[in-house]
Amino acid sequence: MLVQDTLYRKIKQQVGQAIGDFGLIEAGDRIAVAVSGGKDSYTLLHILDALRRRAPVRYELVAVNVDAGFPGYRQETLAAHLEEHGFAYHLETTDCYRIIEEKRRPGSSYCAFCARLRRGVLYTVADRLGCNKLALGHHLDDFIETLLLNQFYVGTLKAMSPKLLADNGRHTVIRPLVYVAEADISEFAKRHAFPIIGCACPVSGEGDRQRQRMKRLVRDLSTEIPHLRSSLLHAMANVQPRHLLDRRIACREVPQGDES
Ligand code: SF4
Repeated sequence: MLVQDTLYRKIKQQVGQAIGDFGLIEAGDRIAVAVSGGKDSYTLLHILDALRRRAPVRYELVAVNVDAGFPGYRQETLAAHLEEHGFAYHLETTDCYRIIEEKRRPGSSYCAFCARLRRGVLYTVADRLGCNKLALGHHLDDFIETLLLNQFYVGTLKAMSPKLLADNGRHTVIRPLVYVAEADISEFAKRHAFPIIGCACPVSGEGDRQRQRMKRLVRDLSTEIPHLRSSLLHAMANVQPRHLLDRRIACREVPQGDES
């Protein structure tokens, strides 16, 4: 049982808000919660479980961990934590590492390939476990960085969706930490001494360089614009497509009195 201090209540409230705003959880859901052993996924699992205990509807959680096969990954540390807290869980061992090393195109993103492979494994495991939803630990800063990355490097105006039907048409991916800032998650994980295990991959800590650049940019700008994160969050929820250049939208007829 976690200490229910102000930070705990704040995060729980933000997750509850996201669940309500986007209809993330419904009665009868069986949700696979992707747990890597990092701060985000520990936080997600504990908070979803706390909400589940008092929820007006019944739903189930199963923590799912994918060991990508990187040498030195400490899956047993994670398993001990899940046992200790009484979570239902499943551990999957894969050879993603070998596949990445053999099949990744030179110069392409290690992280993107790795994430795609592991997501595929998660869908397969979710199927096997009878889960209709997959919960991922992306938080507010991930949403913001993705929004900026897509504009700066890809030329598209999009971030992530808090609730999205996967391409396979069978699973719904949910991201209940959408309103939770990374700094709060870091502090929460520290306070509760979650046994963080690194992913042990060859780019661990370095991650995706472009994403790290966006992270620094947001951090630096936040010193000048303290409400930057909340403003960007509101921007994502307040899209005015007719004031952009997408011809599929911009060339539609303008209703009278709305020409600004
Ligand atoms: S940091 Fe490592 S484990 Fe995480 S996505 Fe990138 S390659 Fe995969």
